[in-house]
Amino acid sequence: MHDPAVLRSIHRDRFHADPAIFVAPGRVNLIGEHTDYAEGFVMPAAINFATLAAISPRTDGKIVIYSENFSEEKTFDAAALPAKGDKHWSDYPIGVAVTLAGKGHKVPGFSMSLWGDVPLGSGLSSSAALEVVTALALLSLIGASYPGPVLARVCQRVENEFVGANCGIMDQFISVNGKENHALLLDCRDLSFKLAPIPDHVALVIANTMVKHSVAGGDYPTRRRESEAACAVIASHRPGVPFLRDATLEDLDKWGHEMAPKSLMRARHVISENLRTVAAAEALLKGNMAEVGRLMAEAHWSYSKDFEGSCVEADIMVELAQDLPGLIGARLTGGGFGGCTINLVEQKDAPAFARELGSRYAARTAIVPQIHVCHASGGAHRLD
Ligand code: ADP
Ligand code: MG
Repeated sequence: MHDPAVLRSIHRDRFHADPAIFVAPGRVNLIGEHTDYAEGFVMPAAINFATLAAISPRTDGKIVIYSENFSEEKTFDAAALPAKGDKHWSDYPIGVAVTLAGKGHKVPGFSMSLWGDVPLGSGLSSSAALEVVTALALLSLIGASYPGPVLARVCQRVENEFVGANCGIMDQFISVNGKENHALLLDCRDLSFKLAPIPDHVALVIANTMVKHSVAGGDYPTRRRESEAACAVIASHRPGVPFLRDATLEDLDKWGHEMAPKSLMRARHVISENLRTVAAAEALLKGNMAEVGRLMAEAHWSYSKDFEGSCVEADIMVELAQDLPGLIGARLTGGGFGGCTINLVEQKDAPAFARELGSRYAARTAIVPQIHVCHASGGAHRLD
């Protein structure tokens, strides 16, 4: 799938050195939206789109990073690393070097070549794939290694502190710890996780609405504030509810009238979404795909109606999928307000499903979507 030979020859031609090659996947979240910062549950899968990094040492103290995707090279001085990002793609890889240096590693000079087929900026986490693959490559050059959850935390810090994007731990965690043909139920409170098999007759069809999602836009922080305000009301009666993860639907029955109506709606989504996510993992473990599909549908409409985190186009994409042969479940995935839907589809029907969904969506919205037929793949590792 991701043949390292092409990147190896790009690296050799440019840097005249033999590289070690690493790969880290993008991801899609099957269920569990806006639950991460409430210390709840998410259930992503790594996908067969990935970023590759080729790395070799240098003796001149320079760090030279080349991205084949951007056809561009950037040079840094290993002895004078930057303190902050520069709003450039190189923020992600150099941020990894800076963060590892901050943890006490001596970062040497190196050459790195990058190439990836995770669509950039589509909500499939090309950024996490890039951080994780860089961290693996650089740690191997340094001669160090971290347990998976620690590696994921390091990469999350790169994105939060160096790049300046306020993401949770999910993307980096699944890129590190994903497993072929499995989804991963992650407890965002303590990073414990459970793998649940996705049967091999099931495809992950990812449909990009082409409507831009923006975590930095006003809606995301507003939703977050509204759900946290609901949690504060519950905590005022029942201490020991620091996060909505600890709240129940009965709490909303008792004290929902003290909340602003929007806060109550947001909290109802988050609390019920946590229950659905755990239930979906149990259903997957039992091979009950119909139940997984039912929970995904419920999750979508909770996200759309209670959380008001969807958009017209995403609702249309979910609706248009409903009567297509092979559909198991469909919902909007990711931070919301656009982005991609995830469709679990019978493998044999997946190509026709993707074609038909694409043409229906284009006819209805006048937007040509990108539709990818994927499967759950393994986490980051060395390739050669
Ligand atoms: P997403 O993670 O959903 O793809 P982000 O905006 O978080 O979207 O991250 C996308 C950015 O990550 C790109 O604009 C680019 O700066 C960086 N990036 C991802 N993959 C590569 C790559 N192969 N080469 C260089 N930069 C990359
Ligand atoms: Mg990202």
